[in-house]
Amino acid sequence: MKAAEKRLLEWLRDAHAMEEQAEQMLKAQASRIEHYPEIKQRIERHIEETRAQSQRIEGCIARYDESSSFLKDATGRMSAMGQAVGGMFSGDEIVKGCIAGYTFEQLEISSYKVLIATAQEAGDMETKRVCEEILEEEKAMAAWLDEHMPQTVQQYLQRDADSSDTAKR
Ligand code: MG
Ligand code: FE
Repeated sequence: MKAAEKRLLEWLRDAHAMEEQAEQMLKAQASRIEHYPEIKQRIERHIEETRAQSQRIEGCIARYDESSSFLKDATGRMSAMGQAVGGMFSGDEIVKGCIAGYTFEQLEISSYKVLIATAQEAGDMETKRVCEEILEEEKAMAAWLDEHMPQTVQQYLQRDADSSDTAKR
């Protein structure tokens, strides 16, 4: 196996762990949001995308590694990312969640850019194509969160000023 291929496989495993982490984080967020239906809905849509991404990455790995043991290897490596959800249970949970969500999407965007360049180098055009498609979904999610940030903050501040218990989440 060429050096670039070895790295590609290693980074595909990291990406798989990242997506598993993403799914957990997004599910936790979506389940807690009560008064921001638009955000909840967009997150739920991204959970579906995330599940599909995870499966597609599994497919890329499987073309190198036929054994199913790769899933075990990957778990835990990206677990520190879970700390991004640290804002949960605070009074401004929705705002902290948007920051964490946007930050996580940026991590994903960078990771897929690395994978695309590596797949190119390794001559794996199928993996490159898959990662390019996933990259577009991550960019779309990041852009959505970015666009909706001002109105989310405004809504939060208004409700917070009214001492409404709908502000938090
Ligand atoms: Mg993703
Ligand atoms: Fe994502």
